[in-house]
Amino acid sequence: MKIELVYPASGANAMLRNHALAVLAGMTPKEHQITLRDDRIKPLDTDRDLDFSADIAGITVQTRNSLRGYELARAYRKKGVKVVLGGIHPTALPDEAIQHADAVVVGEAEGLWETILEDVKRGQLKKIYKHKELPVFDTAPKPRWDIFTSKKYVPMYTAQASRGCPFNCEFCSVVPFFGNKLRLRNVSDVIDELKLLKGSRLLFSDDNIVGKANYTKELLTQLISLKLSWLGQASLHGLKDPETLTLLQKSGCKGLLIGFETVNKASLKSCGKSHNNPEDYLEMVKRLADYGIGVMASFVVGLDQDTPDIFKQIFDFALESKVYNAIFSIMTPYPGTPLHERLVRENRLFNKEWWLEPQPTEYPLYRPLNMTADQLYEGEQWLWKEFYSHSSIWKRFPFAAGTSLFSLVSYLPMNYIQHGFINKRIAEEKEYYKIHPKIED
Ligand code: SF4
Repeated sequence: MKIELVYPASGANAMLRNHALAVLAGMTPKEHQITLRDDRIKPLDTDRDLDFSADIAGITVQTRNSLRGYELARAYRKKGVKVVLGGIHPTALPDEAIQHADAVVVGEAEGLWETILEDVKRGQLKKIYKHKELPVFDTAPKPRWDIFTSKKYVPMYTAQASRGCPFNCEFCSVVPFFGNKLRLRNVSDVIDELKLLKGSRLLFSDDNIVGKANYTKELLTQLISLKLSWLGQASLHGLKDPETLTLLQKSGCKGLLIGFETVNKASLKSCGKSHNNPEDYLEMVKRLADYGIGVMASFVVGLDQDTPDIFKQIFDFALESKVYNAIFSIMTPYPGTPLHERLVRENRLFNKEWWLEPQPTEYPLYRPLNMTADQLYEGEQWLWKEFYSHSSIWKRFPFAAGTSLFSLVSYLPMNYIQHGFINKRIAEEKEYYKIHPKIED
């Protein structure tokens, strides 16, 4: 059979090879022919760039690219190609997704994809494919990276050693998709996969690479000989042990994305993330710098206890701690999360199904509690602009002893790329609001 694997673009696209599609390709029996269609490389023309002689199109859909995913699905179906949608968004909303597809995969595709292909072959495709319970994740199919042929991808591969998270942050869509229990892949299976990438740059897509201490230490110890440079995501909780920090450094970890979320304890409590303690933040960033690990800080604004002074408080911490870089997001009520359910109950969403409208800007999707939507939007824009201003970039420059060569060499180029990107985005949003006024509070 001919199979199209499709990645729809959304507003801001990181040019990473998509791990889910690489794994899907890895699971596909050799007899089938696979073609990747990546909408981010060059926007797909639905008349010219899709192969309508294919038997099936598998489209991976996240909430932010769901509109585009549905548009591509329509184009295939119009010409008789069977469409299967999978990913985090169809898992949250299978009833919505099936209106745009012949079949929907709810949850993880491992263990279902081969059945789907057989069912297409026999002309007996079902509407919903779903595991009865969360599948075991001790081994994983090897991703096929050869399907990504463009030179536009970031020179970095992805891997995943664990799935799920034992915490329950209200805004998080990881738990509804991967479950509330940490599932760990056999270390030997991860290492076998990574041996093929020896010496490369790698991103662990695990939501928390330090989720279980003993496992993490075994994995990191085995990673050392592969001489990888890698980035990952980690909880503060798992970074307190000096042995883990030493192993992170030895295994080639150059940077960690840490979800600080906010510096306001009441806000952390209100969103279910009270396992973060803002009093530990500064010390933790400094300790990681001592081990040569740069911190990419992630913050969320617009939590229910946030007042208009939250923006300056977050900025002050980010500057003082000299984090390598940062992302700032307005709280997003993703479908399937407890946050979305609560805001619907409280009648605070401007549009309950906001993902079905184009989202050209960062404007809040809900009425915040302790400030206006305009204040929240402007505060978030201010944070981006100030954090990536010339003066902040130079004040954060990592002169601290112990900072790795990698951080020193990459810091200015990476931060100045962001500086240019942010200024362009903010200017574009201003232009947009000249024509479309913001939602009034
Ligand atoms: S935000 Fe992080 S810690 Fe919280 S539930 Fe999601 S993955 Fe777990």
